[in-house]
Amino acid sequence: MNQSYWQKTSKKTIEKRIETDISTDIVIIGGGLSGLALAYQLKDSPYRVIVLDKDELGSHTSGHTTAKITTFHALHYQKIVQHYDIHQAYLYYKSNEDALSQIKEIIQKENIQCQFQENESYIYTDDPQYVPYIEREKEIFDLLRVPTKTLDTHLSSLGLEHQGIFHPLQYLYALIRICKEHGVCFYEHSEVKHIERKNQQFVLNVNGKQIHCLYLIHATRYPFIKKGLYFLKLFQQKEYVDFVDHQKTKNSLLCVDQTVSYRPIDETNSLSIQRDSKDWFAQDSIALRGIPYIGRLDQQSNEFVIYGFQKWGMTLSQVAGKLIADLILERDNPYEELYSCHYFSMSHAKPYYAKLWNNTKRGMILNHFQNHSIQALQCQSGIVTRVHGKLRAVYKDKKGELHYFSPYCPHLKCIVEFVEKDQTWTCPCHQSVYDAYGKLIEGPSLFSLQKKDIDKRK
Ligand SMILES: Cc1cc2nc3c(=O)[nH]c(=O)nc-3n(C[C@H](O)[C@H](O)[C@H](O)COP(=O)(O)OP(=O)(O)OC[C@H]3O[C@@H](n4cnc5c(N)ncnc54)[C@H](O)[C@@H]3O)c2cc1C
Repeated sequence: MNQSYWQKTSKKTIEKRIETDISTDIVIIGGGLSGLALAYQLKDSPYRVIVLDKDELGSHTSGHTTAKITTFHALHYQKIVQHYDIHQAYLYYKSNEDALSQIKEIIQKENIQCQFQENESYIYTDDPQYVPYIEREKEIFDLLRVPTKTLDTHLSSLGLEHQGIFHPLQYLYALIRICKEHGVCFYEHSEVKHIERKNQQFVLNVNGKQIHCLYLIHATRYPFIKKGLYFLKLFQQKEYVDFVDHQKTKNSLLCVDQTVSYRPIDETNSLSIQRDSKDWFAQDSIALRGIPYIGRLDQQSNEFVIYGFQKWGMTLSQVAGKLIADLILERDNPYEELYSCHYFSMSHAKPYYAKLWNNTKRGMILNHFQNHSIQALQCQSGIVTRVHGKLRAVYKDKKGELHYFSPYCPHLKCIVEFVEKDQTWTCPCHQSVYDAYGKLIEGPSLFSLQKKDIDKRK
């Protein structure tokens, strides 16, 4: 279920789980591309480093992405200029360009077999309404003195050369192997549930054991902690991907009016994201200020966060890995201020707040008044309804058997909704995802939905 093409075509490493107390220097929470990019940067440092993942390394968004490695982030540069200025857009571009070069260097230096290919990355439209947006993006690239290209197959288009694609899990597993050779330790099925500060140390509770460390990095894509209130400064967006046979495309393409996206897999096949895609899904976190949060959680602390890649995490995870390593190792980094967590843009966030409010209203208020008929429930569907006066999430499996759960998302007690397309329960407030039987798939929640029995006497 929800297995991606990348998972089907790569051989996973198996790591141990935390079963004893550990004292170390640096703990990275999250074994996706951002956690791994950081571990790679720290592997030769004097510090002892461990990486913890609540599931399997690479099994979340990094294993379900489309993996275009590009500095071309849709229409993002014009948004940065609109809400910040051209200098910030320049730094954003430069940081991603550096990251793209660093990824190419790592692949070459370490001889990583991950199907890396250089290609061109384009945005395009055939809708006259969207042409000005592409023209605006071109003006900005001209100002930044970045050479662009066009395609003659669309009304308007804009592209960059020397971008790339790769197999994200082959890359990630190679980084794990290399880091292990340099003494980095990896643990799977080791969820961090609780963090305490004791003197100068962090004490993490994992599988009932204690992990002590001096530096702590949250590379979890979306916060499971409430500190810093990042759940109010980010939201998660779900996207579905298809493997498409006989869809030939050499370049990576993104249509700006319909959010259709393609990237080649090989000579004959590609991956696409379209409205009716359904082969697998993944979520990424969107930073409401328009620029990811990569830096110290508090001004002076040794606790760091990496959140908000807004679906451009291939280069941005490398930006993050390098930046956090430089902060820990007290090296200068030209992008520290740009990604610092200590500023916000209300003007960029404004349209997202309306959306967040609507989601919260559904989860906190409107969904309380659900009262559907269980008799009318189709097989492989779910509803929230009152059963003997109590609100329940009810799933009818393909044999017609009913399964009952508490509908309250353990994160902040919003009421979940059933999504037929991927047979999941999703929390509208912060997008925790549970399978049809209530098992947690994606956080911020740390717990599954509570199973409920039905009292047949009533
Ligand atoms: C459909 C889709 C397509 C995309 N395509 C592209 C693309 O073409 N190009 C591009 O640049 N970007 C793309 N992205 C974005 C990119 O894939 C992500 O930004 C990136 O993979 C995020 O990496 P990550 O390491 O931050 O998160 P993840 O890969 O999700 O890793 C976070 C890890 O943290 C672990 N974790 C969470 N909580 C805990 C805890 N409490 N304790 C221990 N471990 C925990 C999780 O188990 C997980 O493994 C796409 C995103 C989506 C959704």
